[in-house]
Amino acid sequence: MLLGEVASPGAARGPAFVCTCAERAAVPRRTLGVGQAQTEMERFDAAISDAENELRDLQQRVQRQVGEPEADIFETHILLLHDSALREEISTRCLRERINIEAALAEAIDELTATFARMEDLHFRERAADFRDIGNRLLDILAKRRLRGIPALPEESIMVTDELLPSLVAQLHRKTIRGLVLERGGQTAHATILARSLGIPSLIRVRDATKRIKTGDPLIVDGLAGRVFVKPSLSTLGEYDRLEAALKAHQHALKGLVDLPAVTQDGVAITLSATIGKVADAAAAASLNADGIGLYRTEFAFLVQDHFPSEDEQYQLYRATAEQMNARHVVIRVLDLGSDKLLPYFPLPREANPSLGRRGTRLLLKYPEILRAQLRAILRLSATHPISILFPMVGDVEELLAAKAVIETVKAQLETDCQPFNRDILVGAMIETPSAAIMSHRLAQEVDFFSIGTNDLVQYLLSTDRTSSEVASYYAPLHPAVLQVLASLAATANAKVKSISLCGEMAGNPSYTQLLLGLGFRSLSVTPLEILEIKNAIRSTSIPQAEALAKRVLAMSTVREIKECLHEAQAQHATVADPGRIKE
Ligand code: PEP
Ligand code: MG
Repeated sequence: MLLGEVASPGAARGPAFVCTCAERAAVPRRTLGVGQAQTEMERFDAAISDAENELRDLQQRVQRQVGEPEADIFETHILLLHDSALREEISTRCLRERINIEAALAEAIDELTATFARMEDLHFRERAADFRDIGNRLLDILAKRRLRGIPALPEESIMVTDELLPSLVAQLHRKTIRGLVLERGGQTAHATILARSLGIPSLIRVRDATKRIKTGDPLIVDGLAGRVFVKPSLSTLGEYDRLEAALKAHQHALKGLVDLPAVTQDGVAITLSATIGKVADAAAAASLNADGIGLYRTEFAFLVQDHFPSEDEQYQLYRATAEQMNARHVVIRVLDLGSDKLLPYFPLPREANPSLGRRGTRLLLKYPEILRAQLRAILRLSATHPISILFPMVGDVEELLAAKAVIETVKAQLETDCQPFNRDILVGAMIETPSAAIMSHRLAQEVDFFSIGTNDLVQYLLSTDRTSSEVASYYAPLHPAVLQVLASLAATANAKVKSISLCGEMAGNPSYTQLLLGLGFRSLSVTPLEILEIKNAIRSTSIPQAEALAKRVLAMSTVREIKECLHEAQAQHATVADPGRIKE
C-alpha cells in the first residue's frame, strides 16, 4: 500500500496506466553559423504562434467540458508564452552561446523551473509545472512532433504519473480516467484544480508511484484516507465495494441537503457562507445555496496576473463574482499580501521572519496606492451590489483607524468624481493575531463585523508556522488555548451585538462544527466543497447539546482529551451515512 495526500476525494478502482509526463525527449544542440541566430528567433516566434493556437483550441475544449474559469488556466499559459523576459532570456542564450533555439529554450526553461521550484511560496513552486508545460509544447512544435497527448490510454484506467501537466489533464475525461495517482503536485496546482473540477479521485505526493506501480497492475485509489492499494487482496476488494456503495449513499444524502436550511435540530438558523478565491467558486457556492460569500480572498485574482489589475479590471472581476450570488451578501477582503502570499511583479524586501513582518493591513498601509485602487473598485461596486469590506491581519485599533481613514479619502475622491457608492458600506476586521483577539472589545467599537481567520490565529497563538511540515504536529486547532480564545471572541462579539463569522480550515471541518456552535458561533464560512458536509453537521445537533460539549471541552487541558471527546460526540450525531474507511 502506498500513501499520499488527497487532492480530489472519492474512490476508484481499475488497471494502472503508468506514464512519466515530466520527462521530455532529448533536445538537439547545435552550434550556429554566422547570421543563423536571426533565423532561429524567427522559428521561435513561429512556434509561439502555433503554441498559442493549440492553447486556444484546448481552452475552448476545456470551456465546453469543464467550465470557463478552469479554461482560464490556458490564458495564463498564453500570457507566459508571450512573457518578454522569457523571450529575452532565450534570445540572449541563442546569440551569446550561439546555440540553436531548442537548446536555448530547454536551458532557459530548466533554469526558470528550478528557480520557481526553490521558492518558499507554494503557489510559485507550483508555477514551475506551467513553465515546464509550455516549454515542452514549444519543443514539440519546434521538433514538428504532434501535440502531446495520452498514448493509447486504456479505458477506465487509473493514471499513475510523476507530474500531471495542465495540458494533459485537460485531455482527460471522467470516462477514460477513473483516478489519478501523482508523485508530485500541490493542492493549488492548476492540474489539481482541473482534476478536482472533473471530479476525478486524485492523490498527490505518492512517493515513487511510477517505480512501484507497473502498467496493468490492478489498483484501488482510496481518495478518502489517501491510500493506493496495488494488486489488492480479495478482502480489500470486498472492502472497496462496501466503501464505494457507502460513498454513493453519502453523496446522495448530502445532495438532498442543498435546498434545506442550515438549522440545528432545535431550530436555530446558522449562516453558512462560502469562502472563495475566484468567480467559479462563487458559481459553485450559489448552486449550493450558500448564504452569501463570507470571505472572498482577492489575492487569487492578483496572483494569476503579471501586473496589478487596474481599478477597472478589479471592478469587473468583483462584479462578476457578486452577480453569481444573486443579491446575496459578499464580503470582499482587501489584499492580504506578505509572508507566504507574494506576487511575482511586486517584490518585497527580504525579512528574516516574514510571518512576523510586513503583511496584511500593515503592508497595505505602507503602499496606500494599492489599497486605494482596490477600495475604489469595491466602493464603486457597492452602489449596486450588497458587499462589504474586510481588512486582513489587523494588528490593533490604530492600524484599523488608519485603514478606515483610507476608506474615507477614497469615498471623498469618488464623490468628487461623481461616482456613486454605498456610504454605509459595512467594514470588518479579521481577527487573526493574538493582539487583535485581546483587543477585540475595542476593535468592536470601530467595525461592523469580525471574521475570525483561524488558520493564522492558530499559527500565531501556538507560535507554529502553518506552512511548515517540521512543526505540523504542533499546529493544533483543538489546542485548549485556541478554544479559550475562540470562546472569548464569540462572547465579546455577542455582547457587543457585532456580527462575527468564523473562517479558515477549522470552519470547514465537520468534526469541529458542534463544538464551534457550542462556543457561540452562529456564522461559518467554508469552501463550496465543504458546504454540504457542514450543513449536515449543523442539522445533526442542537444548541443545548453543542453547548454542553463546549463546556466539557473548555474544562480540558490537552489536545488529546479534546480530540477523544469530539470523537465520541461525533459518533452519536451522524445522520448522513458515513462512508468509513477500507480496512486492511
Ligand atoms: C485565515 O487565516 O484563517 C484566513 C481565512 O486567511 P488566509 O487563510 O487567507 O490567511
Ligand atoms: Mg489569514
